[in-house]
Amino acid sequence: MISKNLIEVNFIVIHHSAVLNSEKDPTSINQWKSILKNHKKEFSKKFPWSISPYHFGIGKKGNIFKGQDEDFFCIHAGDDYYNFRSLAVCFLGNFNIETMNDNQLNSGIDLVKDLMKKYKIPFERVLRHKEIVSTDCPGKNFPWERFSNRIVDIPQYKYDSIEYAYKLGWIKSLHSPEELVDFGNFLTILKNFYKTIRGD
Ligand SMILES: [Zn+2]
Repeated sequence: MISKNLIEVNFIVIHHSAVLNSEKDPTSINQWKSILKNHKKEFSKKFPWSISPYHFGIGKKGNIFKGQDEDFFCIHAGDDYYNFRSLAVCFLGNFNIETMNDNQLNSGIDLVKDLMKKYKIPFERVLRHKEIVSTDCPGKNFPWERFSNRIVDIPQYKYDSIEYAYKLGWIKSLHSPEELVDFGNFLTILKNFYKTIRGD
């Protein structure tokens, strides 16, 4: 029998619940309760201590639900290496269909930033579920660019410039804009800039 304790917290894994938020459930509390209920039904025999597939859930109004205790692992990643080494954060909703409102996004950003600080987890170890196994979780509409840029604490003025350059096609990605640009990348940006102003 494996221990219920996490080996160590090395990663944070981001999920969506893949269940559509309902107008009748403005804080997503009913959805959260049914997630816990279904989880218990499935796992109570094998892992009686396991009360939730996630450590945290984030509801539609930005309210945070506490799931499994942070010392225990969750069965969430579809890969035991990550199950034993990660915290699971779930945005409630189906973000293949719906889009995320700012309350839910901002609250998730605050939570993940706190966890990164608490467990000394760098940005590279905050993973979307789909980076671990073949899945579309956390959904094609998950605002990953906005989310990832905010959790690395880029000053707003830099973020504005980066986003502007991205929208104009001068740079191909918003990812890791704190990375140093080497000379080749710099020339590529210049070339893209030049092509844009010439209207090629
Ligand atoms: Zn997932």
